[in-house]
Amino acid sequence: MTTSTETGTALWPIALNPSDHGASDARRAEILADPGFGRYPSDNMVRATWTTDGGWQNARLEAYAPLTFDPATNFLHYGQAIFEGLKAYRHADGSIKTFRPLKNAARFAASARRLAMAEVPWELFLGSIEALVRQDRAWVPEGQEKSLYLRPFLLGTEVGLGVRPSNEYEFLLIASPAGAYFPRGVKPVSVWLSDDYVRAAPGGTGEAKCAGNYAASLLAQAEAATHGCDQVVWLDAIERRWIEEMGGMNLYFVFGTGDSARLVTPRLTGSLLPGITRESLLTVAESLGIRAEEGQISVDDWREGCASGEISEVFACGTAAVITPVGEVKSRTSGAWQVSGARTGPVTMQLRQALLDIQTGAEPDEHGWLHTIC
Ligand SMILES: *Cc1c(COP(=O)(O)O)cnc(C)c1O
Repeated sequence: MTTSTETGTALWPIALNPSDHGASDARRAEILADPGFGRYPSDNMVRATWTTDGGWQNARLEAYAPLTFDPATNFLHYGQAIFEGLKAYRHADGSIKTFRPLKNAARFAASARRLAMAEVPWELFLGSIEALVRQDRAWVPEGQEKSLYLRPFLLGTEVGLGVRPSNEYEFLLIASPAGAYFPRGVKPVSVWLSDDYVRAAPGGTGEAKCAGNYAASLLAQAEAATHGCDQVVWLDAIERRWIEEMGGMNLYFVFGTGDSARLVTPRLTGSLLPGITRESLLTVAESLGIRAEEGQISVDDWREGCASGEISEVFACGTAAVITPVGEVKSRTSGAWQVSGARTGPVTMQLRQALLDIQTGAEPDEHGWLHTIC
């Protein structure tokens, strides 16, 4: 049994039955040289089962392998499926750390509650991460902007076509090495304002990291692509006026420049996903002496702010890409405009570097956000 350095509490015991047919050193080195994102699994995975009678049981690490489900399994039809995403970083001293994993554990539990699923205790969530990263530590790449991406997920696995919360769940954790999200450097994206489709409505599942939210977003993403845009930006469902998120990332607006720069991120109304990167940046900005707050930004505010120069930069943030500048906006009903001349602004780059430096150990972890695994 391992112990969490954050709490001193014993983590959930995970039985170890690792793969005997993992990738060769040569094959792994080849993959780590150019991992892309989510293309190659590591050698192992963790899984555990929940039943109404027995609760969580049979937590084990085993070889990464296909799963087999009865065709009438709940999640295949009714979508009881949630997930998380976080990264493990290899630091210069050889240690391997994750960034705020208990935040992911808490959000995973909140997502489970929203979808009427069994919650995974944080001890099992973190215990699984520790077991898998220790076992597959050779899969954590070296180098700036490289990491091992961790994907925990939870599925309703009761068999039968009745519509009700499943009485059985499967928790899984897989890992995949990730390279620089922008192999050719950070470049501003163009965005399409989605006037016709909404991601999430009040009372819906927008706050939960559930698979269905992504399925529901793909048509708007495809529409953005037909208009030559990289990403879709979501508006609120009621007025179709307030900016919520960009694709699977949260947004930040920079008002003013230099010493008077001030950050505003859309406040969490219940239909936004509460990003851990978003929340961390509120703190990082403050420690850099940049005012940062939650607020409301309308489409008109955005367009007029860019025209007047009051809005100097806009960027999106999330675990996968850290920070992505937004350079151009297009829409069906509100026109088209550029943000900061479609260039990456200085506040965007400063925050991106500051956050990466904490995550990769280049700067001290003043906020106690890193969790050492090995
Ligand atoms: C995961 C996610 C984010 C970003 O959350 P992080 O914790 O920062 O990775 C933002 N929006 C949506 C819709 C998401 O699913």
